[in-house]
Amino acid sequence: MVVVMTPEATPADVEAVVNLVQSAGGQAFVSRGLTRTIVGLVGDVADFEALNLGSLAGVLQVIRVSVPFKLVSREHHAARSVIRVGGVPIGPGTLTVIAGPCAVESPEQTLQAAWMAKSAGASMLRGGAFKPRTSPYSYQGMGEDGLRILADVRSETGLPVVTEVIDPGHVDMVASYADMLQIGARNMQNFALLQAVGSAGKPVLLKRGFSATIEEWLSAAEYIAQRGNLDIVLCERGIRTFETATRNTLDISAVPVVQRLSHLPVIVDPSHSGGRRDLVLPLTRAAIAVGADGLIIDVHPAPKTALCDGDQALTETDIREISDMMASWPPLMGRMLAASPDEVGHVPAGV
Ligand code: PEP
Ligand code: MN
Repeated sequence: MVVVMTPEATPADVEAVVNLVQSAGGQAFVSRGLTRTIVGLVGDVADFEALNLGSLAGVLQVIRVSVPFKLVSREHHAARSVIRVGGVPIGPGTLTVIAGPCAVESPEQTLQAAWMAKSAGASMLRGGAFKPRTSPYSYQGMGEDGLRILADVRSETGLPVVTEVIDPGHVDMVASYADMLQIGARNMQNFALLQAVGSAGKPVLLKRGFSATIEEWLSAAEYIAQRGNLDIVLCERGIRTFETATRNTLDISAVPVVQRLSHLPVIVDPSHSGGRRDLVLPLTRAAIAVGADGLIIDVHPAPKTALCDGDQALTETDIREISDMMASWPPLMGRMLAASPDEVGHVPAGV
């Protein structure tokens, strides 16, 4: 069971809940988020129900759920959620495209990739400044300089920015530049990082770990939610299987499975899953057809010289095809392509 306190609840209100639960032989775990406090109860549910916790001062809601992830479950919140990032909606009704380079490499490369993203139909920009690379000898990203570039490119193009954070100690700094914080596949179960982004006051894009079950993935989302942040978007990016023809195997069935279990939006990464440029368009079609709420796609002005993941980046020649697809496919699924938040940043002629 979970007790959600009102934003106005006092420490004494929280203590009263804890004391009552303990007097009934249960355990109570308090997590204080930015906007509200949540008390998780462990013990006999029937005993807790007899306590009538909902009538105590400062208690907003008492939730009884049968799954280990509670706040993110549809049992708790039946309607599917729409998360807004810098004015861009992600959720049912729209198809939101996020695109950009795998990694920020320079101001020119990032700006060019952002215009490519925009002309492909994207309403948000992706780009890693901190790169969690499997090898310590691979490009590790530009760090805070890369975040400054992303913020400049946002001003020029009007595209809100999602970028990865890999260290709990960097969360506030990354949040001061980004519109949305990305937790990558390699950090999906970095619980200290999940809790830190849960308290950062910015929406979070949570990628699925490549060996994570759906239950583990949603439990990771619960760590963020438990800190009071329910602005979470889930991203299916492929899992590791015995198949070696693709970088990872896109688990397309995860999209409807997760949408049934959780109210959070689910998007698909057709770039990191396949790891091959020629698969990005077919996997994008599959994602739209299966009912994904959005896509996150790698684009690069010069993939041959990209410092990270050039093999999967779409080039100028692919952009027209993807932009045609974005005009015709979302309506087939009853969705509108999400628009960029404002009118600044018209794509220059020739891009
Ligand atoms: C990324 O999106 O830049 C990335 C590193 O992806 P993933 O965490 O899914 O491997
Ligand atoms: Mn990448």
